[in-house]
Amino acid sequence: MVLAQLGGSISRALAQMSNATVIDEKVLNDCLNEISRALLQADVQFKMVRDMQSNIKRIVNLETLAAGTNKRRIIQQAVFSELCNMLDPGKPSFTPKKGKPCVVMFVGLQGSGKTTTCTKYAYYHQRKGFKPALVCADTFRAGAFDQLKQNATKAKIPFYGSYMESDPVKIAVEGVERFKKENCDLIIVDTSGRHKQEAALFEEMRQVSEATKPDLVIFVMDSSIGQAAFDQAQAFKQSVSVGAVIVTKMDGHAKGGGSLSAVAATKSPVIFIGTGEHIDEFEVFDVKPFVSRLLGLGDWSGFMDKIHEVVPTDQQPELLQKLSEGTFTLRLMYEQFQNILKMGPIGQVFSMLPGFSSELMPQGHEKESQAKIKRYMTMMDSMTDAELDSTNPKLMTETRIIRIARGSGRPVRDVIDMLEEYKRLAKIWSKMKGLKIPKKGEMSALSRNMNV
Ligand code: GDP
Repeated sequence: MVLAQLGGSISRALAQMSNATVIDEKVLNDCLNEISRALLQADVQFKMVRDMQSNIKRIVNLETLAAGTNKRRIIQQAVFSELCNMLDPGKPSFTPKKGKPCVVMFVGLQGSGKTTTCTKYAYYHQRKGFKPALVCADTFRAGAFDQLKQNATKAKIPFYGSYMESDPVKIAVEGVERFKKENCDLIIVDTSGRHKQEAALFEEMRQVSEATKPDLVIFVMDSSIGQAAFDQAQAFKQSVSVGAVIVTKMDGHAKGGGSLSAVAATKSPVIFIGTGEHIDEFEVFDVKPFVSRLLGLGDWSGFMDKIHEVVPTDQQPELLQKLSEGTFTLRLMYEQFQNILKMGPIGQVFSMLPGFSSELMPQGHEKESQAKIKRYMTMMDSMTDAELDSTNPKLMTETRIIRIARGSGRPVRDVIDMLEEYKRLAKIWSKMKGLKIPKKGEMSALSRNMNV
């Protein structure tokens, strides 16, 4: 995700500030200027950046801070909470409940990723135990029904649409009725898009909305428009009651930060972001964990969700126990690699772990990283049980390294690389010792994670 660059720049500014011997006005100003520059590059509105800067200065009043207070930590926390404020619309979104019929209508401009996102949204909920269905009420774009049908078939989600009928309201009503009868609890209606905001589109949206009475209207927008998202979101909000926003194509645009903050300024909650064309390149958007990940601090709730989703239930307590013990063996690294390879888009999982994101798994190099992990695992297959279970780095003598290299058919250099990676991860893991791991959905460990 291009946002990784923004997060990287902010983290670097904070790290530079932390390395200064004395934290004075100049060091703070330099740090804030760096952060502001990064945000402006991501197309965040100038006024927001300026307000953020003055809020932080107000919170971190260096002159009035008592001697001995941890200024670095106060600055870091102020930056964290100001970034959260910038992205927080101050309003939660309606969330569908399993077993209770719910109609969700999707609106947006043509090309924003609306149809793709409908299927991603349905698929996401299907994996959470919902019974979703898709209705194609986009009669304007030739091929829209075929696209939805294709996506829905791949994801094994029931769909409804027509090649003949040209009245979107009729199709929407028929589809919703049919799926209500079939006891679907999440009926998703994809409406027409247009190349630009125009009266006809808004009128059609209003009619479909009146006829289907959606519980939630989701506005889909492309992140590449940056701060122009404010006007676009406002225009849609004035025509139908938009309850939530999904921002797409966050994988490819430097302006992602601008679009997210601009949407928040319209007081519409962003609920998901699209991070690729594939059906599971779709992430829940939650402000605090998002900022935490952006700054490389990890995202426990996302990580826990993935663990609950992918690691077999009987293995979960053991893994969590090992995490809180802080002892990291090569065998544990091997098991984590196995989980990570299973957990789908590998980049998403890694970026949820504090410290894991940047080095082993640089953003945009997921394929290479996956290959590297497989290579590491092949080398670990040539290790003995004692080697895999040891926590003593001295055990890995030259003779053992050469033996592993020979056994796995890899150069000695690769084995050394793998052991270096192990040491790096073991160091991060050790910081989690004693950590109270939050239960699913809890964020209580977040402040603790900021020390990692
Ligand atoms: P619609 O006209 O709004 O229904 O847009 P589509 O769903 O047809 O999407 C337009 C294009 O954007 C397609 O090529 C999609 O594959 C692509 N797309 C949608 N969401 C994303 C995303 O999150 N990332 C990327 N890279 N491409 C996306």
